[in-house]
Amino acid sequence: MPIMPIQILAPEVASKIAAGEVVERPSNVVKELLENSIDAGATEIRVEAREGGRRLLRVVDNGHGIPADEIPLALERHATSKLNTVDDLNHIVTFGFRGEALYSIAAVSQVTLTSRHRKQPFATTIRVEGGVVQAPARAGAPIGTTVTVENLFYNVPARQKFLRTTTTESGQIAAIIQRYALAYPERRFSFVNDGRLIFQSTGSGELRDVLIMLYGRDNAQQMVSLTAVTASSTTGLDDLALDVDFRSDAPAQSTSTTPPQTGVHVFGYVSLPSLTRANRSAIDIFVNRRYVEDRSLTHAVVQAYHTLLPVGRYPMAVIFVDIDPAQVDVNVHPQKTQVRFVEERRIFAAVQKAVRRTLISATPIPDLGVDEGGRLARATGETADLPPGWASRREAILNAGDQPHFDIVVPAPQPTGILPSFAMTATTNAPDASPTNKRTTTGVTSIPKLPPLRVVGQIGAMYIVAEGPEGLFLIDQHAAHERILYEQYMLQRANNQTGVARQHLLEPLTLHVGARLTGQVAAHLNALQHIGFEVEAFGGDTFLVRAVPAVLAGEDPLRTLEEIAATLSERRNLVGEEIEAALVKMVCKRAAIKAGQLLSDIEMQELVRQLEQCQSPRTCPHGRPTMIQLSAVELEKAFGRI
Ligand code: ADP
Ligand code: MG
Repeated sequence: MPIMPIQILAPEVASKIAAGEVVERPSNVVKELLENSIDAGATEIRVEAREGGRRLLRVVDNGHGIPADEIPLALERHATSKLNTVDDLNHIVTFGFRGEALYSIAAVSQVTLTSRHRKQPFATTIRVEGGVVQAPARAGAPIGTTVTVENLFYNVPARQKFLRTTTTESGQIAAIIQRYALAYPERRFSFVNDGRLIFQSTGSGELRDVLIMLYGRDNAQQMVSLTAVTASSTTGLDDLALDVDFRSDAPAQSTSTTPPQTGVHVFGYVSLPSLTRANRSAIDIFVNRRYVEDRSLTHAVVQAYHTLLPVGRYPMAVIFVDIDPAQVDVNVHPQKTQVRFVEERRIFAAVQKAVRRTLISATPIPDLGVDEGGRLARATGETADLPPGWASRREAILNAGDQPHFDIVVPAPQPTGILPSFAMTATTNAPDASPTNKRTTTGVTSIPKLPPLRVVGQIGAMYIVAEGPEGLFLIDQHAAHERILYEQYMLQRANNQTGVARQHLLEPLTLHVGARLTGQVAAHLNALQHIGFEVEAFGGDTFLVRAVPAVLAGEDPLRTLEEIAATLSERRNLVGEEIEAALVKMVCKRAAIKAGQLLSDIEMQELVRQLEQCQSPRTCPHGRPTMIQLSAVELEKAFGRI
């Protein structure tokens, strides 16, 4: 390539490059427009999107508006009404200050801006296309501003390629609006997607109302208001030391609700330990009402739950940190989701302490982490506390395992009806359901994965002790049953048996999933149908449940569905069959016999027999071991015989 002389980029090139920093996808546009509306003091903000924002994005607000003569300026680069001097940068109180957003958006789309200033009797409208500003015109409109962005990236094909599906993009737009709804409960936000009202906050000023909208009433009821912690910078550090012994803390007392000038003020809501998520995505943190992505503060929240949650589970939280604007730098990145604190440690400690105190006053602290099934969390954790020799064995077992996939053509664990079973009714019409140990339907005979085992007994109402030709087996009854159910389901599916046995409900159950999860549930009604749920949209965040998988008899199907909904939204990267596999695993987990359940000899024998016939008997569908094996040789070694 010939070397070009240094030159100043043509304005249209420069503006597209600048736009790239601010505007990567439709949700970024929404964020900028929302922030302008909030900066303008709007109390009602409506967002509309079409085709995931590609075709159209519109934000309508009732803020103070823009004076007619300033309207063309609003679209210029570095044109802002929010910052005058460099000194102003040190105490930013508005979202905007770069004067870059409208300019950047207009460089990559067709923007129409209509605004009526509160002191003017008419509105002015102006249109920009490909960076070219057209002459303003008068219009009739109420006080406030409407920005319409059409055909985003119409002139940047490279960007278009990176856009995801319409559902994903509109999901991200919804997520952005929800953050601001959380941060500003006293303002009313609504989102209309492809002509449908997706959600609307009440604007009541109550954070709890926003939580109900987002997570549904049941979940919101399991979230508690933070006991406020306020620390001033002069006295704060000792009081909030990181290694403080939380358990000996005096009960927390509520302090003032207004932020002291130099202090840190932490407030918000956190979930009780009974309500958890599979990842950190339901932990939202706001600094001076600005949503931030801060690993350290997220970690402070998670740490506060230490020993209260099972391994791999995370809380839900909405945390507000109010702090003197001079103590925080928001000018770190054009998208402004990262911040830097002057005294990071102190903020961390304040958050951690506020959460911990709240939890301690709200819940008793158990001695050991115990998971939903009642199993010791430790048992699935590190190998450190296993006897010598067991660790490597456990590794081997773990690695022996399981590649969950859908083309399993294997064993039919033949249920007798003693244990809850997927196949109970569905296989009755399977012609070749023979109780033999025939391992395959493709004619390939594979080696049994487990030797025949003799049940010796049950310990701790959790583990089955069994003896095999090579030694001793300790079987986790819950994990083993999960494995059995999972393979039963997969087998049925492989044989194209549609009949996952379902139980039709006399009265449909009503499921409220909350606005955050509605889209995910609605998009997966078919997958739910496959695994035995009949669920139907009922408007808003409400669904009617008409049938549940029979295997779940005796379980609370709504809890299972809520868990499924949460997982769907947390793991949006799942596609196609992975989705169904994830759903099945959740159903299996719920349906499987629990740790803590006493089993009769017959039940244990049945369980072990079905496990013997599994394709991957040594791990549960989530990849954890179902059993620990101690070989005869290992036993002899341990007893010093060899
Ligand atoms: P910034 O927000 O960083 O100042 P923008 O490009 O987002 O830059 O906006 C430029 C200017 O346009 C703002 O400073 C403000 O004066 C005006 N403006 C934009 N949107 C609105 C709105 N919704 N209501 C009132 N004024 C607005
Ligand atoms: Mg702005």
